[in-house]
Formats: sequence, C-alpha cells, structure tokens
Amino acid sequence: MTISDNVLNADGALIVGAGLAGLFCALKLAPRPVTVISPKPLGYGASSAWAQGGVAAAVGEGDTPHAHAVDTEIAGAGIVDGDEAESVAAEAAARIEDLARWGTPFDRDGLGHYVLSKEAAHSRNRVVRVQGDRAGHAIMQAMIAQVRQTPSIRIVEGLTVVDLARADGRIIGVFARKLGDRYAEPILVRARATVLAAGGLGGLYAVTTNPPGVRGHAMGMAARAGALIADPEFVQFHPTAIATGADPAPLATEALRGEGAILVNELGERFMPAVHKDAELAPRDIVARANYRQIRAGHRVFIDTRQALGARILTTFPTVAKYCTDFGIDPVTQPIPVTPAAHYHMGGVKVDERGRTSLPGLWAAGECSSTGLHGANRLASNSLLEAVVYGARIAADISGLEPLRAPLPPFAGIEWNEAEGEAVEERLRNLQAVQELRRVMTDLVGVERNATDLRVALRSIAELETTAAGVTRSFLNMTTSATLVAAGALAREESRGGHFRTDFPEPRPEWAHHTEMTLETALEIRAAA
Ligand SMILES: Cc1cc2nc3c(=O)[nH]c(=O)nc-3n(C[C@H](O)[C@H](O)[C@H](O)COP(=O)(O)OP(=O)(O)OC[C@H]3O[C@@H](n4cnc5c(N)ncnc54)[C@H](O)[C@@H]3O)c2cc1C
Repeated sequence: MTISDNVLNADGALIVGAGLAGLFCALKLAPRPVTVISPKPLGYGASSAWAQGGVAAAVGEGDTPHAHAVDTEIAGAGIVDGDEAESVAAEAAARIEDLARWGTPFDRDGLGHYVLSKEAAHSRNRVVRVQGDRAGHAIMQAMIAQVRQTPSIRIVEGLTVVDLARADGRIIGVFARKLGDRYAEPILVRARATVLAAGGLGGLYAVTTNPPGVRGHAMGMAARAGALIADPEFVQFHPTAIATGADPAPLATEALRGEGAILVNELGERFMPAVHKDAELAPRDIVARANYRQIRAGHRVFIDTRQALGARILTTFPTVAKYCTDFGIDPVTQPIPVTPAAHYHMGGVKVDERGRTSLPGLWAAGECSSTGLHGANRLASNSLLEAVVYGARIAADISGLEPLRAPLPPFAGIEWNEAEGEAVEERLRNLQAVQELRRVMTDLVGVERNATDLRVALRSIAELETTAAGVTRSFLNMTTSATLVAAGALAREESRGGHFRTDFPEPRPEWAHHTEMTLETALEIRAAA
C-alpha cells in the first residue's frame, strides 16, 4: 500500500510507543515481524529514558522473589494482586539477564555481582542500576542499538497514534497522524495484533517529571474504544522533583534519600521524622504529602545532600548533579529546592496476566496498562520491571498466534523532522486549553483531593472538551484520561496509597479493592458532578 491511500498494512504485530515496554516486546517478538510507531526518534519522548533509579529485582544474596513481592504488596496499600506480585518478582532475574545480554552495562562489583541500590519501602538493597543514576538512559541506549540491528523490527518515527481502529468487535490497528498533519485525515495502520505501549499520564499535570508527550493518550484512546480501565484515580506524585520552574521538572532520585539525604524547609528544619517512623524513607505518598503541606503552609522544601554525599553527588548521581548545575545550584554546597510532581500512573488499561485487554486484538504493556501489580502505590523501581515482564509475556502470547514471515520493508513517506517536531511540541505546550487542563489537574485532582474540588474539576474538563477551539482527537484522549482520573477519585470515598481525600482521610475496608471503570461510567459521574 502507498501512503496516499491513507491505509498502511503493518503485516504483523503493531506496537504503539517506543519506551522500554514497546522496544522490549519488539525484541522478544523477533524474528516475527513487528512495526513500532514512535512520534519522535527512538530514545526521545519516553519516560523510560529518564529513569534514574533502576530496575527492582531480587538478585542479591539472601533476597528472594517472595520478599520482593511482600514489599510490593505493603507499598500497594492493600490492593496489590498477590499472585501477580509473586509471578512478576519471580520473572525479574530472567528479564534482567535479557537486558544485560542485550547490552545494558549494569553496575557490578569486582566479582561480577550486581551493585544494588536501596530505595524507599524496599526491605533490602534490590535495585539494579547503571552508573549510579543513569539506568533509564543506558537501558534505552542498549535496547535501541539492539532494535536497530534486528531486521524483523520496522521502526516508524514521526507518527502519532490518535485512535484505535475497530471492526467487528476487534481492534484491527490504529489511526495515526504524520508529524505536523494536524488537519489531514489520519492514516489507518492495519494490524492483526496491536500492542499499546504509549506510556502514562504525568503530563496531564502542570507539574510533572514526565516527558511532554506522555499525557494520557494511551488510556484515553483505549477508553474511547470501549476498553475496561482499572484504578484510574491512583496517580503517584514524586516528592522530590527539582523546583526550578522548568516544565517538565527534573527529578532528584529517591536513591539520594536512600544514601541519607534529608528534607528540610527554608528554616533548615527537618520535618520528616515527626511525620513517619522511617522519616525520609517513608512511602512516596507520605513524603509527597509532607512536602506538599510544607509548601501549602508557605515554606520552601529542599533536599539536603551535603552531609550524606558531599562532593560524591557529582560522581554517584551525575544526572541530578547536572540538572542542578544547569539551573545554577551547586549541590555540593547548597540544598536542592524540590516540589511534589505527577510522576507515575498506577492505573491504566486493564490487562490479564498475558497482557490482553478487554478488547480482542489489543494488548497493553508498561505504564499505560494496569496489571494489578502496583495497587494504590507503586514500589520504587517496579515499573521498568513490569514493562519488561509484560513486554515478554505479550510477545509470547502474540507469537503463538502469528506466523513467521519475511522482514518488512520501510514505510515510505513518513519520517522525523527535528525542526517540525520541535515546533509541534512547542505549539502543544502553549495551547491554552492544554495549559488549563494541566492546571485543573494539578490544583484540583492532585496530591490532596476533596469532593468539591473534584466536582469542579470534572465540570471544567467537560467545558474544556466542548469549548476548546480546534478540539483534536489528541486533546480528546487527554480530557478522556483526565475525566477517568477525576471520576475515579470522586467515586473512591477513602484515602489509600497515592489517592488522598481530605474529606475521607482514612482507608475504608469496603474500598479495599480495585476500581474498574468504562468511559461510559466515568462520563455518568462527570455528568452528575
Ligand atoms: C524521571 C523519571 C524517573 C523514573 N525512574 C524510574 C526508575 O528508576 N525505575 C522504574 O522502575 N521506573 C522509573 N520511572 C517510571 C518508568 O520510567 C516508567 O513507568 C516506564 O519507563 C514506562 O515505560 P513505557 O514503555 O510504558 O512508557 P514510556 O517509556 O513513557 O514510553 C512511551 C512511548 O509511547 C510514545 N507515545 C506517547 N503517546 C503516543 C501516541 N499517541 N502515539 C504513539 N506513541 C506515543 C512515547 O513517545 C514513547 O515512545 C521513572 C519515570 C520518570 C519520568
């Protein structure tokens, strides 16, 4: 097919998104043909490349997958699927070996054993890392090199998916736009198996650590196609994004606190010991709320690494150190200003243990999916793990359905153009409707929530959806995801994990279960708000 027909055939499986979930799934599918769609060149636009901590896996002496699963369940605040946690933790070591075999230069000691970091709510050192805080970048560089030399993988850069294509009750591919083709009819890309791996929704919030393109598109388009969504209300706010006013806000990894860094306000007062017995190593949601409350009370919050790390921050945490110096902060002599920021989405498109969604023909992997592993609050460094475990499971499931065929020729006429790409991103960032939506989410559906604010948020989202000039399908995917998060948050009249309601500040036993929601239900909640 030629592009002028507005229809392309993937001739095999199609993967939407080129973060770790998408690329790992593509590599695991080899030699079966697969097409991977990425709005940007590989390595750009994906949270995966920005991960600092690493991948959680029970590969240290004395550690066990069961201990990892138990920590995962405790962090998840009562609604982690226990079997899921056990099985993911059990597969971790094999997937780490895959990553290493494909070229990831994990930190190792003189005996060749992994160097393991300690992160909050892990009962022991369990996070495999690269050069201290460069895990995401290094893993992605290794996977990209591997993908580029795998003939069965066709990469299409400069294409953004706006809708899933349905026929006879099945997903038969996607509708996608070429870079800059805002008003042209989208292209239909047909596929027998479609894997959604287009990331989370942090960018729906005004203050976020996620790359600009990660704005809930995946969950939004799946919900609009009728997919069942799970736990949309559970958004994790990272307590320590560096507060420089930059959008997105650079991250100061949790591993800094693992190394002994403390949180103080502008008066030099350390406040975490009074909040939780584990002080700065309390679960993320508790630290995020403590920081949020300091800021609401008119204080500024800083992470102070001076005593714990001193000049060692420059070599042990080069990424954080560089972010600081870029913004005129000397982390060796100055505390680093921080703020909570939308970081990770525990909810998403509901999948079973094979990664199958409720829609035939559609699988979902990585942050856009909801597997039941994270419950109400993700254990640090479990998300890259989930991305590779499910990338592999989905590839195995699809391989059983797909015949082996010859490698695929490139799609002609679609390519990335840097100048145009930057212009599109800038235009999107500055669109008033997008800015308003992100402000509504941060102010009214953020770290602390209540029924009044959530109702206002739902009405505002509905209004933006109907009145925003030039509403595109992309924007509709964003407002759809925002609606699901706010509707889930309004429905859940309790506090649990990442979801905190000031009007229901305690967990309630009758709510100790997942939320399952279709867009139809979310829209009913919105209409009644
Ligand atoms: C700063 C930061 C640090 C983190 N540190 C860690 C860590 O140390 N350990 C850990 O386990 N987790 C960490 N996380 C979380 C983890 O990085 C993510 O959950 C994980 O990388 C998600 O992988 P993914 O493949 O699902 O999505 P992503 O890596 O976000 O990739 C999504 C892909 O989908 C593409 N895409 C988006 N929209 C569309 C569309 N409409 N059409 C087509 N493609 C689309 C994007 O361009 C991108 O290629 C961190 C996250 C951030 C932001």
